Formats: sequence, C-alpha cells, structure tokens
Amino acid sequence: MALLEIKDLVVGYGRYPVLHGIDFVVEEGEVCVLLGLNGAGKTTTVSTVAGLLKPTSGQVLFDGSSLGRRSPSARVKHGVSLCPEGRRVFPRLSVQQNLRLGAWSQRRHAKTVKRQLELVLDYFPRLDERADQMAGTLSGGEQQMLAVGRALMSKPRLLMIDEASLGLSPTVARTVWEAAARIARDGTTVLMVEQNAGALPFADRALIMEKGTVAHTAVGDDIRNVNLREAYLGA
Ligand code: ATP
Repeated sequence: MALLEIKDLVVGYGRYPVLHGIDFVVEEGEVCVLLGLNGAGKTTTVSTVAGLLKPTSGQVLFDGSSLGRRSPSARVKHGVSLCPEGRRVFPRLSVQQNLRLGAWSQRRHAKTVKRQLELVLDYFPRLDERADQMAGTLSGGEQQMLAVGRALMSKPRLLMIDEASLGLSPTVARTVWEAAARIARDGTTVLMVEQNAGALPFADRALIMEKGTVAHTAVGDDIRNVNLREAYLGA
C-alpha cells in the first residue's frame, strides 16, 4: 500500500514553477531514492512533503489522506520527518542533547523517547561512543549520522533524507545508506534524495528527476538495469 502519494504536484518559488505536475508513490516499508542532478527539483519535492513549501496545485497524500495545509510541526506529529540537506546539527549541544531535541513531538511519551534513542544508537553505534561530545566537533560522517538519528527520534512513519552522501567518503556514504535500508526493513519508510547513483543498490524504488519532472521510475530488479543508470548519467 502507498504510504506517500504525490498527484500532479506543481510547486514554484514566486512566479517560477520548479515542479511541473509530478506524480509518484512510495510504498510502505520501502527505500525510495529520488535521484537527479543539481536543480532537478529534489529538495523542492521533499520540502513540500514536509510542509516547508506550499504547492501551487496538486496533492500530497499520506496514508491515504491529504496533508493539506498542515504545518511542518503537525506533519512531524503525524509521522513525516525530514533530515534536511547540510546536516545542520546544533554544534554546541552534545550528541545526546541533539537527539533529545529531535524527540520534541514525543516529549510527553518518555517510553517512546527511550525506545527511539536505543534504536538510533543501535543503527549508529558511533553516536553512542560520542554521546557526550559536542556535535560541532564530530566528523562530517558522524554529523550526518546524527542528523539522520535526530530525524528518527520523532518516531516517523516516513523518513526523508536529503543528500546524505554529500561530501562523505564512499565508505561513510555506504554506512549511511546501509542504515537507511535497515531502518526501512524495521518498518520506517525511507525517501532518500541523492545525486549519487551509488545509492541505487539500496533502493526498492528509484525515481529519476529531470528539470522538475519524474523522467524515469524503476522498481526492484529493474533498478539494477544499466539503462536506468545511463538515463541518469545522460540526464
Ligand atoms: P540540489 O541537489 O542542488 O539541491 P535539487 O534537485 O534538490 O538540487 P532544488 O533545490 O529543488 O533542486 O531546486 C530546483 C530549482 O528551484 C532550481 O532551479 C533552483 O535554482 C530553484 N530554487 C531552489 N530554491 C529556490 C529559492 N528559494 N528561490 C528561488 N528558486 C529556488
């Protein structure tokens, strides 16, 4: 069943449309990778789902119902979480404090916060080793793990991760993608924005964005199909 359904979505900045009526679905429990070059409209897409941008027209359906005019914080409570591009951890707070801030929407549910914290530290043991360290002193890869972990602390049903691999070594990028695949296997649907085709082997569904449209979609084994990679590289 589709957890996220995007229908004829048009979004722009001022008078300039950036998304030209896109359609796609993300099924519950899968990893979906939204792949595209700079400026293709990937960040605009996930920002709209998170409620940070208002669409000109079209629909964002979550679990069958329109997210309509819900605020970004209401969407977090509803199970939609975004780990934004550029990590943006709180540098002067510890790893543990950063994670607890991510659980703000769950602050009245101590058991849930404890459980999510255990889960995040299990996905990213490095964060456990660094629990009391100031976030600003972490390596780039550790900060990315912290940013993903913080987004997970709200106990989302849909976790969106914008450009996790940017600026990371191939090994560290792989660690983050592997964690994303594990998070999805454990039941949290993942939508990853990427420019790096190295994320494709971790995906159950791949969407290639070009100039504000979804130019290609592949599911399952078709993702490993060379044509998809060529379509992207030729984009
Ligand atoms: P990137 O990987 O570089 O973030 P992207 O695929 O995520 O690329 P978007 O960030 O969604 O692309 O940008 C899509 C288009 O919208 C680009 O042409 C960009 O210049 C434009 N755009 C993005 N943000 C704004 C803004 N705040 N005001 C005006 N135009 C914008």
